[in-house]
Amino acid sequence: MNQIWLDELREFIAIPSVSADPAHLDDVRRAAEWVRDFVKRTGGEAELLRRGERDLVIGDIPANANGAAPTVLLYGHFDVQPPAPLELWETPPFELVERDGWFYARGIADDKGQLYTLLKAAQLLREDGALPVNLRIACDGEEEIGGHSIVDFIRDDDRGADACIIFDGGMTRPEQPEFGIATRGLVGFHLKVRTGERDMHSGYYGGAALNAIHVLMQALSAVAARDGLLPDELRIGRTPLSAAETASLENLPAGAEILHEAGATPLDPKAEDEFYDRTWAEPSMDVNGIHGGKPGLVNTTLVVEAEARFTIRLAPGQDPATIAAAAEKLIRQAVPETARVDLEVENSAAPGVFSPDSPVIKLGMEAFERATGVPPLLVRVGGTLPIYPALAEKGIPTIGTGFALRESNVHSPNERLRVEDVDRAVSAASELYRSLAALG
Ligand SMILES: [Zn+2]
Repeated sequence: MNQIWLDELREFIAIPSVSADPAHLDDVRRAAEWVRDFVKRTGGEAELLRRGERDLVIGDIPANANGAAPTVLLYGHFDVQPPAPLELWETPPFELVERDGWFYARGIADDKGQLYTLLKAAQLLREDGALPVNLRIACDGEEEIGGHSIVDFIRDDDRGADACIIFDGGMTRPEQPEFGIATRGLVGFHLKVRTGERDMHSGYYGGAALNAIHVLMQALSAVAARDGLLPDELRIGRTPLSAAETASLENLPAGAEILHEAGATPLDPKAEDEFYDRTWAEPSMDVNGIHGGKPGLVNTTLVVEAEARFTIRLAPGQDPATIAAAAEKLIRQAVPETARVDLEVENSAAPGVFSPDSPVIKLGMEAFERATGVPPLLVRVGGTLPIYPALAEKGIPTIGTGFALRESNVHSPNERLRVEDVDRAVSAASELYRSLAALG
């Protein structure tokens, strides 16, 4: 690889921009400055913008051609996960090391290495006088800790953009790029049940007094899946898989294989066959923790206090407030009126969904095919990424993709990215910039 790229990447990686650790606050800022300075060296303008506790980098790299060119937003994050446990790393986490065709370092795949490729491609085109789109840079240093500044910035930025590119993802199979065009949302609940003043003797009161754990079980059962699917009231508003998304399934590992690899027990007999439908186009409910009674001790208590936390992942298309209200109604109907049941929505995030037919996705697919030789698959993301719905609300079609592999050890020791994929990502980014010029 080109020595200049290597030096730049090494320098960026060497900044331990761990957002979760207050001791590294200055390093997160140094990483922000690194991005800002790179944009400036490329002939653009950029500044650190403080909205919450950490800085965003907001900037612009103008197209070389005069006149109206479309604007493409570039998002990436310059913070990284903590490297612990350090003893499992074969080489120091913040030292870029090349070994057996891979680059090893914290942040090389998630996301500093990938962000670097977007910036490098911009710089190369700009220096050649061939950058055909205006690039707007919007990067954050709090992605790994769920920061909101970038989402607020996008919501408030009235300038909008014609498209957005995010390289912060990966490929399920090494030579098969993917565009993620939808994400699931999330509603998190805290459920508390009280049925009396103090715990009781189950011999004296059992059979006559209400047990809080039983009420908790009734409440949770009311919103749990039956035969693999949530109650119909919680399935309202789903956007089913498009033909293009369904076609992608031919080229992805079978659901049975994915569940087996994870050591999972299938939810029901149809779960393996319906894996992608279930995780991409259906809501799901998981109880994340339960507290009640004294399960560690032999005892005969009739329990009057119990609590649970549970989350509903929303399918693309669903509305958090509607589903939260429907869940509350199901729970109220299922529990005895005499129990005191408090249900609190603690957090929520909307799902995001982009049309597979948008010109941005079509141009992006052509660009990727030119750069990598393979047309990308259109897929969904079962997880929740608040930037997606924010971009969707603003009408900014988004190409969410990337080059991390399942073997890239993202969020784990020995994080890595294939050396060849750095070149591939730079050429994919420059093909994208060229292609998206057609939006103008
Ligand atoms: Zn990331």
